[in-house]
Amino acid sequence: MKAAVWHGQRDVRIENIPEPPAPGEGEVKLQVGWCGICGTDLHEYAAGPIFTQVNQPHPLSGRLAPLTPGHEFAGTVVEVGAGVTGFKVGDRVSPNPLLRCGTCAYCRQGLPHLCTQIGFMGCHSDGGFGEFVNVNVERGSRPIPVLYKLPDNVSLEAGAMVEPLAVGVHATKRGHLQDGETVVVVGAGPIGICTIQAARAAGASQIIVLETAAGRRHFAEESGATTVIDPTSTDAARAVQDLTNGLGVDCAFECVGAEPTLRAALSTLRKDGRAVVVGIFEHPAAADYFDIVFFEKTIIGTFAYRDEFDLVIEMLADGRLQPEPMVTGKIGLDDLVAGGFEELLTNKEGNVKILVAPE
Ligand SMILES: [Zn+2]
Ligand SMILES: [Zn+2]
Repeated sequence: MKAAVWHGQRDVRIENIPEPPAPGEGEVKLQVGWCGICGTDLHEYAAGPIFTQVNQPHPLSGRLAPLTPGHEFAGTVVEVGAGVTGFKVGDRVSPNPLLRCGTCAYCRQGLPHLCTQIGFMGCHSDGGFGEFVNVNVERGSRPIPVLYKLPDNVSLEAGAMVEPLAVGVHATKRGHLQDGETVVVVGAGPIGICTIQAARAAGASQIIVLETAAGRRHFAEESGATTVIDPTSTDAARAVQDLTNGLGVDCAFECVGAEPTLRAALSTLRKDGRAVVVGIFEHPAAADYFDIVFFEKTIIGTFAYRDEFDLVIEMLADGRLQPEPMVTGKIGLDDLVAGGFEELLTNKEGNVKILVAPE
């Protein structure tokens, strides 16, 4: 079958590799419909290995590079292994790509994303940039499933967006975002856009987005931002106060991962407000702790997702989440490097999510 294979930095090849064997006990074989390119895939391509295991096999999958990347995908069940109930050939599904042990303290608490042996399909086992992949229906002893069915009115394209949208929905849950609250989102990259969508779905009364790039401000507006501010030309904290009766917002989401944007998020909060940090930081960052203490502000970290796939699929089915404006490109697997990775590296502003059909 045709698949992308990560061999090293700037060395992802489209190859003919053996199709996965017949699915084992508790597994199904999927024919991948669409797989989205994530920032993580891009980093592994441009600057990797970052998460990809190159020296030692991952303890849960037993795999190391070279392997097939891609963790944001949806597909159709083509073969069902022994002991699988609840799935049949022809079902359209989206898998949760988290690898978890199922037995550590965190897995037993229902926190698989904090598993002591955490891994991801596409990084620590073969992922969705290939025609076929075998997936466990459940993983570990705890009943957080891996495979989720898509209802008839949720397309495979939308199914490939469940994973990044789950990151946004998990962030709003971590922030205890309530119906009618006011929100700031700092950074309208792919995860910022997913967070805007999730905030809109949660019933935020105002979603004020801070974004320096004009192209991304446009995608923010299309995804539900009520006001979009360019913080390089406007005093963002002042503008947010003006929009919120002089108070500041209830909840701010930092979706960049840098000190200035963390400070910006904190500066837009009302007293007793919550800052949810979604961005991945490459360096330690300082914040104004006088402000945090004196005004009882809270900083909350959020990572990936816990068990939000069901909720995201329900929200896609009833229209609360609308991924269409986020899909800025659809390409075939042969075009993954030039039309996918390189396009995203050179035209960041013009893209949110590029979907790849592995045929
Ligand atoms: Zn991702
Ligand atoms: Zn675990």
